[in-house]
Amino acid sequence: MAKKTLLDTLTDYLKQMVSIESVNPDISSKGSGEAAVAQYIAQICRDLGLSVEVYDTAPNRPNVIAIWHGTGEGKSILLTGHTDVVGVENMTIPPFEPTIKDGRLYGRGSFDMKGGLVAILGAVMVLQSEGYQPKGDIILGFVTDEEFASLGTESMVKHVQADAAILTEPSSLKIGIAHRGFAALTITTYGVAAHGSLYDEGRDAVRYMGRVLDILDRMESDVLPLNTHPLLGRSSVHGGLLNGGVGYSTYPDQCTLTFEHRTLPNETGDMVLEIWEAALDRLREKDPEFKADIKLDFWRSAFETTPEEPIVRQLGEAFQTVTNQPPQYDAMFGWLDSALIAEASIPTVIFGTGGAGAHATVEYVELADVELCAKVMAQCVKEWVG
Ligand SMILES: [Zn+2]
Repeated sequence: MAKKTLLDTLTDYLKQMVSIESVNPDISSKGSGEAAVAQYIAQICRDLGLSVEVYDTAPNRPNVIAIWHGTGEGKSILLTGHTDVVGVENMTIPPFEPTIKDGRLYGRGSFDMKGGLVAILGAVMVLQSEGYQPKGDIILGFVTDEEFASLGTESMVKHVQADAAILTEPSSLKIGIAHRGFAALTITTYGVAAHGSLYDEGRDAVRYMGRVLDILDRMESDVLPLNTHPLLGRSSVHGGLLNGGVGYSTYPDQCTLTFEHRTLPNETGDMVLEIWEAALDRLREKDPEFKADIKLDFWRSAFETTPEEPIVRQLGEAFQTVTNQPPQYDAMFGWLDSALIAEASIPTVIFGTGGAGAHATVEYVELADVELCAKVMAQCVKEWVG
């Protein structure tokens, strides 16, 4: 029988990992969470001879931290990614029965981001097959809850420190050096409830919200486009959920708008809140009867590094060595855990597979990318850790 290739082994791992449902239970109440897939990964890490710690970030939602201890003279590196996946509503393929066609593995989480997790394991396998012994620690972090509140990464960065990190979120083999942040906000306008016929008594909270929506409209079309970032474009704002009123014949006493303001590097939640507070102040000045308040529900910062940052340069060189192609640097669309890792003073870069369908109805990963990603990371780790 022919010997199993690296790609065969990585494909087997990925098939298993996709078939273990790990839907984030905070996104979908039917989700089982990360425990089963964490146990599967932990066992592979033990089989690879690593020191493995599995600990809960919330009840039955464990992180897996696996360390290949170096001799102590080298720099350390953290290779990390999330084990949770989003829900499967409206998927048009069987989400947890992975199938392979034309070099692509289909299933929920194949692309976002179990392919990236397997690439991390693959990097260790490549290095072990070469008989390599690290000088610095190689730390693998398989974390929970990226798709909801990032409990896993928040906890990991308290547990481990490293001299650099590679986050293997899908990046189509480009080197991800930036992404935007976001602020989630709620504005409530207040009216006075009254019978629909009583115009001198009633105050219409929905009409007042119209003024807020007018500001949102102008902010999005006229104000935010004035400030752009070379990789990330501009900040943006969009309505999320609008709620108010009780029916035809009643003046509504309350209307709420939940919305999101996506931010550029160096913009904080407080800065966003200030912009909106000022807008509400202007509305109050125009009409003393306009009553509203605003709440900053949640925010996360943007992430930005440069091609000159040592770990980014090292990864770029590794990419060139392995593929004989120059690396491409790019921004990522959505918010990722990279912001939290970088905030914990760990220089961070994003590098992962190609594929499509993150959070969508058909999801797949390019299997060849999983292997290539593993080889590039192995090369980078070897140079970085010594
Ligand atoms: Zn992801």
